[in-house]
Amino acid sequence: MSSAIINGKEIGQQIRESIAQRVETLKQNGLTPGLAVVLVGDNPASKTYVANKQKSCEAIGMFSELVKLDAATTQEELVAEIEKLNGRDDIHGILVQLPLPKQIDEDAIIAAIDPAKDVDGFSPVSVGKMMLGQETYLPCTPFGVMKLLEYTGIDVAGKHAVIVGRSHIVGKPMGQLLLQKDATVTYTHSKTNDLPSYTKQADIIIAAVGRPNFITAEHVKEGAVVIDVGINRDENNKLVGDVDFASVDGIASHITPVPGGVGPMTITMLLYNTVQAAEIASAQ
Ligand code: NDP
Repeated sequence: MSSAIINGKEIGQQIRESIAQRVETLKQNGLTPGLAVVLVGDNPASKTYVANKQKSCEAIGMFSELVKLDAATTQEELVAEIEKLNGRDDIHGILVQLPLPKQIDEDAIIAAIDPAKDVDGFSPVSVGKMMLGQETYLPCTPFGVMKLLEYTGIDVAGKHAVIVGRSHIVGKPMGQLLLQKDATVTYTHSKTNDLPSYTKQADIIIAAVGRPNFITAEHVKEGAVVIDVGINRDENNKLVGDVDFASVDGIASHITPVPGGVGPMTITMLLYNTVQAAEIASAQ
């Protein structure tokens, strides 16, 4: 029997409809939620991501502004732009598209974003609050994965979740969010010996590796939930995840497809965080 598909497009759409209602309520009270997207340079993938984020904002009635800067922008110039955005009342969320050109220290830029507008949840303040379980903006991709599990009715409490990957934007926060919901969490990474011996014990596998079709049948226990965060191009330039779908299908109880799984949730949670930031601003 095939594994059940966790449809991120559908779940994302449901969540977006409820966000659109919240946007409408804010607008009736005279406030339009605003997201500033900062793009430095001409990276084609970044341009596509930024265009998608803007389109999604506009589709649910939010205001979005693109701050497009030259590839030669200095760190000081970028910090100055962010400070301007920090001070603007019509901008509730600020997103700096990564990666940045190499003359700019990404950590310094992220730290310059006002934590009240850090809708990506990457700043040290947001990460610290997340670790402490305090109210904050959660990083969009792992937050989106938690929503996928919740909407699919998968209770993670007491389950063994094995995360493959430990990046700041996906793997690490993913483990924290699962831990907060009482999962038992194991982190694995490129220095892990005998990866399948860990993933084979998992009730939930989160693949955030960045390698096409990396997770195969040998990694997956019968009945495990497999969440594929990866977005890669294979040798035929086809969009594929970190999980070899065909190999794992029928072994996993549930699986996310690529595309149409985690991807749509990332932008959805960005919209979610931005409307929340606007609601907080409107209550002040
Ligand atoms: P990074 O490259 O930052 O991190 C990859 C992680 O995988 C690292 O921790 C690395 O370990 C680990 N890794 C690499 N090789 C192996 C291996 N052989 N065995 C076990 N672990 C390994 O990637 P990201 O976390 O940013 O992204 C991961 C994937 O998710 C990418 O495909 C990316 O495109 C996608 N992505 C998708 C998003 C979405 O919206 N769906 C959003 C963000 C990312 P080590 O730390 O030891 O180097």
